[in-house]
Amino acid sequence: MKAVRLHDHHHPPRLDEVPEPRISGPHDVVVRVGGAGLCRTDLHIRDGWFAPVVPSELPVTLGHENSGWVHEVGSAVENVAVGDPVICHPQQSCGVCPACRIGDDMRCERGLAFTGLTRDGGFAELLLTTDRAVLPLPGELRPVDVAPHADAGLTVMHVVRKAVPLLGPGTRVIVVGIGGLGHIGVQCLRALTAAEVVAVDRDPEALKLASGIGAHHVVPADEQQVERVRGLTGGQGAEVVIDFVGEGDAPAAAFAMVRARGTYFVVGYGGELRVPTFALVLPEISVVGNAVGTHDDLRELMALAATGGVPVHTRTYPLEAFADAMADLEEGRMHGRGVLVPGGR
Ligand SMILES: [Zn+2]
Ligand SMILES: [Zn+2]
Repeated sequence: MKAVRLHDHHHPPRLDEVPEPRISGPHDVVVRVGGAGLCRTDLHIRDGWFAPVVPSELPVTLGHENSGWVHEVGSAVENVAVGDPVICHPQQSCGVCPACRIGDDMRCERGLAFTGLTRDGGFAELLLTTDRAVLPLPGELRPVDVAPHADAGLTVMHVVRKAVPLLGPGTRVIVVGIGGLGHIGVQCLRALTAAEVVAVDRDPEALKLASGIGAHHVVPADEQQVERVRGLTGGQGAEVVIDFVGEGDAPAAAFAMVRARGTYFVVGYGGELRVPTFALVLPEISVVGNAVGTHDDLRELMALAATGGVPVHTRTYPLEAFADAMADLEEGRMHGRGVLVPGGR
């Protein structure tokens, strides 16, 4: 089968012909990929960002935002059957360690078994995963439409659920960065909270998208962004700022938009946040990191998606066009999310 594999860090991945994955364990599940979301993290994996912290062997097939149909199952698999449409949690966890027992699969004691990073991913025709990692799609959801929810949407649901208790009526939330995650973020915030949603991005197209999907206000990410946000928040800043950018001047600006006793949720990464400790102490500001999400986050997200609550704006590419998709993402031509479709279906 065809697979997009990374052979060396700092070099573009290649389309290879590889053997089809086989069931070897009783809990294995092979999924026929219907869509695989392309993520900025794929660029970071290519560029070796994870190499110092997450040991992994190359070559590896990229792609951690996968959805498709069950193709083959191991002898002990009971939660799905061949033909079922499923979405795949990227982490292939053990299910029995203390972290897994409390639903924190990302911190499974077996370590990070992350699809598209330490395990072969979904930029391929078939994906080998486990029964614990697959969730049957509810309603009429189609794999190609929901694939980015496997990480982009899941990460958003994870951070938004943390923010929900802070976002009662009369509160404001600032969404910094209206890309693949941010545009899902605006929709999840509208669906789950009563807060006023302010979208910040430097790209006018992204702000137009934000308005169209429910942001109450949009603010261009220029030199005046902090003042504008303060103007929209009674001079105080917002109860919650969610930063989907996390690099360049975004963290400093985002932090300056947080009001006293507010919370700065960091989701995007790559940059630095430098803050005098005094600026945290007196106003009692919280800074919270966020990565991926739990199975329960994914289940709630799929339930919301099944009601039409969070449509992902996608642009599909045949698997063979992965290089075009990566270039579109890297050069800022992607609005919403790119999805690779094996066989061009
Ligand atoms: Zn991702
Ligand atoms: Zn575990």
